[in-house]
Amino acid sequence: MPTVETVRGPVDAAELGRTYMHEHIFVLSTDVQQNYPDEWGDESERVDDAVAKLSALAATGVRTIVDPTVIGLGRYIPRIQQVADRVPDLHIVVATGCYTYQDVPFFFHHRTPAVRTLLGKDEPEVMVPMFVGDVLDGIAGTGVRAGMLKCAIDEPGLTPGVERVMRAVARTHLATGCPITVHTHPGTHQGLVVQRVMAEEGVDPRGVVLGHSGDSSDVDHLSALAEAGFWLGMDRFGINLETTFEARADTVVELCRRGLAGRMVLAHDAACYIDWVDPDVLPFMPQWHYLHIEQDVLPYLREHGVSESQITTMLVDNPRSILGGG
Ligand SMILES: [Zn+2]
Repeated sequence: MPTVETVRGPVDAAELGRTYMHEHIFVLSTDVQQNYPDEWGDESERVDDAVAKLSALAATGVRTIVDPTVIGLGRYIPRIQQVADRVPDLHIVVATGCYTYQDVPFFFHHRTPAVRTLLGKDEPEVMVPMFVGDVLDGIAGTGVRAGMLKCAIDEPGLTPGVERVMRAVARTHLATGCPITVHTHPGTHQGLVVQRVMAEEGVDPRGVVLGHSGDSSDVDHLSALAEAGFWLGMDRFGINLETTFEARADTVVELCRRGLAGRMVLAHDAACYIDWVDPDVLPFMPQWHYLHIEQDVLPYLREHGVSESQITTMLVDNPRSILGGG
């Protein structure tokens, strides 16, 4: 049985159990936080809050979450280790990669492949050895190894920065076997762009989750991507600003009816604290929390004909297959 890297170390893929494939813990604009720390407040209270929220999640039977918080989203592994140590019933898989819809962060801006080639570096793309190191050696001396790769493409499409990151993630996948999740914007069919780039890089779609697929209810488009071998991330349950609970759930129902439970994974894309959202806005998103799938989504799916075995496929078998490299 393959092993999967988690914050507390490797575990057998068979032990992952019920898994939510896209849940953040903290999403932070790090330099804003360092200079305007009032809203974040007391560090230990934030850690306590995360321990409480993740313990409540584990109490529903969820055994594993994948936290795709990478560069651009404020990843800080020592804080995640503090949380993980206090939620022993929950495995946390962390990720590496870079999150942008437009340009690369300035750290990478002038470290271009052209400059690195002139300098005689073996690997022209500086992100590749950084990401490979996170997967094979661990992140920033913590010993915690990344178990997922992450990049993003949104409405602006394949900008030069987005393309650099996506190809770096693809090459890291080929070098390490670590699976990929891509933030996509399915309303503009960015999954088709991911399909082209991954094919050009020689990446098998079965190693790639098209995240946020559930933002769309275009089941023909989603079916085509699933049938091409991609995993569909129905992973924003509770974010019902531009869609509805029923539209998200009905899309899963219809894809199950089409025989595609074996290509879907579920999650909320929730966080214990995300500084992108004014705290005063959160009351308008009452379902956006770690317990929504258990409390609302699964009962709805069962009522609408999704079988217990299809639910197990989406929550247990598919994540084990993705994370275990099967
Ligand atoms: Zn996310």
